[in-house]
Amino acid sequence: MILIFSAPSGSGKSTLVQHLLETRQDMELSISATTRAPRGQEQDGREYYFISQDRFEQLIREDAFVEWQQVYKGTYYGTLRSEIERIERAGHHVVFDIDVKGGINVKRMFGDRARAIFIAPPSIDALRQRLTGRGTDSPEKIEERLAKAEIEMADAPLFDTILVNDDLATAKRELDKEVAAFIK
Ligand code: 5GP
Repeated sequence: MILIFSAPSGSGKSTLVQHLLETRQDMELSISATTRAPRGQEQDGREYYFISQDRFEQLIREDAFVEWQQVYKGTYYGTLRSEIERIERAGHHVVFDIDVKGGINVKRMFGDRARAIFIAPPSIDALRQRLTGRGTDSPEKIEERLAKAEIEMADAPLFDTILVNDDLATAKRELDKEVAAFIK
C-alpha cells in the first residue's frame, strides 16, 4: 500500500509523517533524490539522495523516476523507481512526503493502492502566524510561501482525505485512525 502526504509549506506535514514513521514499523519513507544542497544535519541517503543537476537530468532521460518535479525554480525533486522497489522488497508500505502536484500524480498512478492525504492549515492566517513564528524566512519569502499555499489549497479536493492540522495531538489521532482504516 502507498500513503501520500502533501501540504502547503508550514502545515506540519513533516511532523505528522515523522509521527507515523515512529509509530508504525510496517511503513517506510520513500527517500527522494534532489538537487538542492543538504541543510543542517541532513545526510545523503537519509533525508534525501543529494545529487547534481547533471546526474538528475541523466536519470530523467533514463526514465529512472516514478515522478519528478521542479518544486522550486531550478531545484529538482523526484522519486526513483529503485526506491519503491527497495521498500517493497523489504515488505513495507511506502510513505511519500511530496509536493502537491507530485502527490496528485502519484495518486493517479497507483489508484486504489494509494491513499492521498492533504494536510491543511486551519486558515491562511494561521499559516502566516506559523511561518512568522518559525523565524526562518524573510517577510517577502513568507508572502511568497503564502501565495503558493493558496494555490495549493485549491487542489486539496483532488486528495482522498483532507486532514486539518489545527491542534497537533488531535491531528495525530485522526491520522492514526485514517491510516489504520486504509491498511486494514
Ligand atoms: P524541502 O526542500 O523543504 O525538503 O522540500 C520541499 C518540497 O519538496 C516539500 O513539499 C517536499 O514534500 C517536496 N518533495 C520532496 N521530495 C519530492 C519528490 O520526490 N517529488 C515531489 N514532487 N516533491 C518532493
